[in-house]
Amino acid sequence: MEPENSNVRQRANVPADSTEMYRTMGISGPVLDLGGRIETELSGRFAAIDRTAEYNQLKVLNAMRKCKISAEHFSGSTGYGYNDIGRDDLERVYAETFHTQAALVRPQITCGTHALALALAANLRPGDHMLSISGKPYDTLEEVIGIRPSRGSLAEYNVSYGQVELDAEGHFDYEAIRRAIRPETKLVEIQRSKGYLSRPSFSVKEIGDAIHFVRSIRPDIICMVDNCYGEFVETMEPSDYGADMTVGSLIKNPGGGLAPTGGYIAGTGECIENCACRLTSPGLGREVGASLGVSRSFYQGFFLAPTVTAAALKGAIFAANLYEKLGFRVVPAGNEKRHDIIQAVELRSAERLKAFCEGIQAASPVDSYVTPEPWPMPGYDCDVIMAAGAFIQGSSIELSADGPLREPYSVYFQGGLTWPSAKFGILMSLQKMVEKGLVELK
Ligand SMILES: *Cc1c(COP(=O)(O)O)cnc(C)c1O
Repeated sequence: MEPENSNVRQRANVPADSTEMYRTMGISGPVLDLGGRIETELSGRFAAIDRTAEYNQLKVLNAMRKCKISAEHFSGSTGYGYNDIGRDDLERVYAETFHTQAALVRPQITCGTHALALALAANLRPGDHMLSISGKPYDTLEEVIGIRPSRGSLAEYNVSYGQVELDAEGHFDYEAIRRAIRPETKLVEIQRSKGYLSRPSFSVKEIGDAIHFVRSIRPDIICMVDNCYGEFVETMEPSDYGADMTVGSLIKNPGGGLAPTGGYIAGTGECIENCACRLTSPGLGREVGASLGVSRSFYQGFFLAPTVTAAALKGAIFAANLYEKLGFRVVPAGNEKRHDIIQAVELRSAERLKAFCEGIQAASPVDSYVTPEPWPMPGYDCDVIMAAGAFIQGSSIELSADGPLREPYSVYFQGGLTWPSAKFGILMSLQKMVEKGLVELK
């Protein structure tokens, strides 16, 4: 007879290792084996991602040391928010990290679109011309600019807009840019990430070359970069190559999964002052704006952001290589260099797209028990399916996937606060497809 509390008995009920854990959590042997082989093949690239994260971690850490961050920075303010050193020094930490004169980092900036709209509206005046040199901008900016007529758009304020398409390979078309710049061109916009388009995302170096080119034609043009999904993917940021404004969302990379809301703009003193006076009010600028209770999450999230971004990058590369091996077209390709954290997989059928999203949802820490269903969404001509089991609503640095139900049934996949959770989500997406007979393992 074994005694009641013997070790032998306990071990029988507890998975002995991760392989057993995966099995108890619903991942079959063949899916796990394939995942393991892919992971082994990627060890060199994962090591390179870790080195980038190391550099970026030191960059953020050093900015926090330089700004002498202490416990009093986390207490927050109410009302007008006068003398809120937590808010003011967080903006210094961002400016130090991005190597800019100033930054605006606020919970009152409600999302990435708002940050971009603010940067534009604050620095353009009636009669000015703005030029996108990276082709069509992100969907939500169409209404901001007034490409699609919209209440309050820049077009309503008599700001005109032009767009230079990328060349056939998806690179900047320098001659077309030269022709498109007019005497009244005040601001040039560059979008780093492809977002949901099929062009490649830009490296920071490429963006730097484009900024240099624009400056060589007209040194006074404001160069603004939509940096969404790009922060900490490389060791340099667009601001290191002379961008006057670098703009992004705190529920993507730089919030590190902890920032509950918010956006940032890092840039020249002049541009940031314009942004502050537009965000709050002329005459008040950066002096007001209560940080409420969010300062600690902003600091801690920014501190974690380099390694969180690394986890999301590993997930993207793992998914690309796994699905490429199974014969699907993936964008970017499995072996391509990364400039953002978004991965697209062309699944070629509605059933696979649904199964993929079911897998991501089932693998999430929140709402794992619900089943995502396609539904009509404003702005789309077909149903869209979304999977997200996130701590922060709509946070896309957390594991999430979505796609419109139309050819080629591409799923756009991003995020993962930790590499093991991203890996589990991707394995589960494949597991769901295997169970439904929608893919054959090789
Ligand atoms: C997400 C994103 C935006 C808009 O950000 P929201 O927070 O969704 O408003 C803008 N541009 C790009 C490239 C993005 O990825």
